[in-house]
Amino acid sequence: MQKQGRVIIPEGKKVAVNLGIDFDAQSIWDGSFKLTSPAYESRGEFGAEVGAPRLLALFKKYGIKTTWFIPGHTADTFPEICKQVLADGHEIGCHGYVHENPTNATLEEETKVMAMALHSLEKLGAPKPVTYRSPYWDFSPNTISILEKNGFLYDSSLMGNDLHPYYPRPVEVHSDSANIFGEPTKILELPVSWFLDDFPQTEYLTGGQEGQRPAQDIFDRWAAIFDYACTLEGACYMLTCHPQTIGRAHMIQMYEKLIQYMAERGAWFATAAEIGAATVPK
Ligand SMILES: [Zn+2]
Repeated sequence: MQKQGRVIIPEGKKVAVNLGIDFDAQSIWDGSFKLTSPAYESRGEFGAEVGAPRLLALFKKYGIKTTWFIPGHTADTFPEICKQVLADGHEIGCHGYVHENPTNATLEEETKVMAMALHSLEKLGAPKPVTYRSPYWDFSPNTISILEKNGFLYDSSLMGNDLHPYYPRPVEVHSDSANIFGEPTKILELPVSWFLDDFPQTEYLTGGQEGQRPAQDIFDRWAAIFDYACTLEGACYMLTCHPQTIGRAHMIQMYEKLIQYMAERGAWFATAAEIGAATVPK
């Protein structure tokens, strides 16, 4: 059975909420989509130059500390705004170098990417990160051991639970008999969900993803998931947003409305590391 955790929520609050920011900027276009033309680069530039400052101002207004998952490439390309994230007291999480897909990477390749990612965050002056989010929300067979070797305590990339932390297990896949789970890892998983991610629902990709869903639909879904989380004991709600997406005019207004909605109903806004540290066995 899955080894699960529950979060010890501070008195008077109901649900741990991490308003996670995946600060992909240009790295998602360069590394994941291999789209490096000026228009795609400008979408990443918007995230760093316009979206991120809007988000920092919003978090300051509500006194919220959260986790910014910053690829090394973003730290190197846009160091000033990344230093501002740090100065504002947010947790900095590791998010690859140039938004790589790790699933088919060799151990050497993945080890090298991790070293580059950590070096770029160190250059910013960030403390050694304890939380990792895979750029692809996926692992290679080596990812967990690389995370353990580099001192990570928490991961936020997998979907084996939705509203409770858990310890992921490796799966040996068989197509002619049952799959076999291995032992749970020591890394605590703070699970993500595509339903709690702004990017697929919103971003238009020419000839691909349609995106462009109305902001109200997204608000309704995110609020409904939060309402359900309020009925559970020790739940965590991990929302993933991107400055180039949530930073758009219609989206950031919806996001602020959501912050107010959750604050009125008992959200404990916290960093991923704070939520991880407050987790005990279920
Ligand atoms: Zn990302």
